[in-house]
Amino acid sequence: MSTLFEKIIARDIPAEILYEDEVCIAIKDIEPQAPVHFLVIPKKVIARLGEAEKSDQSSLGHLLITVAQVARELGLEEGYRTVINHGVHGGETVPHLHVHVLGGRQMMWPPG
Ligand code: 5GP
Repeated sequence: MSTLFEKIIARDIPAEILYEDEVCIAIKDIEPQAPVHFLVIPKKVIARLGEAEKSDQSSLGHLLITVAQVARELGLEEGYRTVINHGVHGGETVPHLHVHVLGGRQMMWPPG
């Protein structure tokens, strides 16, 4: 069965797409937690960070480069927060690895 994000990548479910290439897609989060909140998602399904393999190394680097590129394009020069939720304690709800990027306001630390 496809993950929610595979359905978005396949255009079976609509999403606001900010960027796409052969490795990843960046979309606006449907329930934004900050003025800017987007997700960078690898097209290859890796359920969560702990299940990434050595062979995923370059894709994972690509995700972070894409985070910085899209953040720059969206004008987040004051800064932003990146988050990867892993498992139950991490608050993961979609089992398809994704990097949250939040910006447009001051982020607090520690997070809840
Ligand atoms: P997680 O909780 O797994 O770290 O993050 C999943 C994120 O996906 C949440 O921030 C949630 O708002 C977002 N999300 C869930 N369903 C959809 C959807 O259908 N479209 C979009 N664009 N984002 C979604």
